[in-house]
Amino acid sequence: MRVSEIFFSLQGEGIYIGAPTVFVRLYGCDLRCEWCDTMYAVEGGEFRTMSVSEVVERVEGLRCKTVCITGGEPLLQEEEVKELAAILLKGGYHILLETSGHMEPPPVFFDDGCVISLDCKCPGSAMESSTDFGLFRKLGEKDQLKFVIKDEADYLYAKGVLREHPTRACVVFQPVGGTEMRWIADRVLRDKMRGVRVLPQLHKLIWGNKRGV
Ligand code: SF4
Repeated sequence: MRVSEIFFSLQGEGIYIGAPTVFVRLYGCDLRCEWCDTMYAVEGGEFRTMSVSEVVERVEGLRCKTVCITGGEPLLQEEEVKELAAILLKGGYHILLETSGHMEPPPVFFDDGCVISLDCKCPGSAMESSTDFGLFRKLGEKDQLKFVIKDEADYLYAKGVLREHPTRACVVFQPVGGTEMRWIADRVLRDKMRGVRVLPQLHKLIWGNKRGV
């Protein structure tokens, strides 16, 4: 597997925010979001090649039963990611897969022990045409659909998408950059956006823009 980094920290985003978690960040992505904050896992060639069993061994050594498989786009390494998820599930791990919303996760991620965190790319990412809206209805109540919102145009886009493509998943609105969220909160309350959670990127509030946290 092409691995960018493996580390232990707090979950910084989404419905499991604040939970101690092991992160397996895989290298490589076929999108180029304008505000991407993990470009070191997208291009530049900074990765280690590890076997699935080496990754499992490293995860086990960090002694935490919650694992976030992220990237980059983890599903570009689908065969290895499937194998990794199956081994971790068998070992009693709880998995969160972070994926960018244009590739269908393989069946193993629809297991009760896995949460799929699917992105819906807004216009501010310049990648909005990548989203496969058909994936939304495949998500369950345990999963989440995340909109990273840059400006008013993104907010209105997210509102329209949710109207046209309902989902059972938890919906998260997260500001680009992770911290300036008051204006999103005001709009969500004004528009009574039921079922939407407005969340920061906790790791940036705690540690700033650092890698490996
Ligand atoms: S999909 Fe994720 S990793 Fe890829 S460019 Fe966009 S934000 Fe970065």
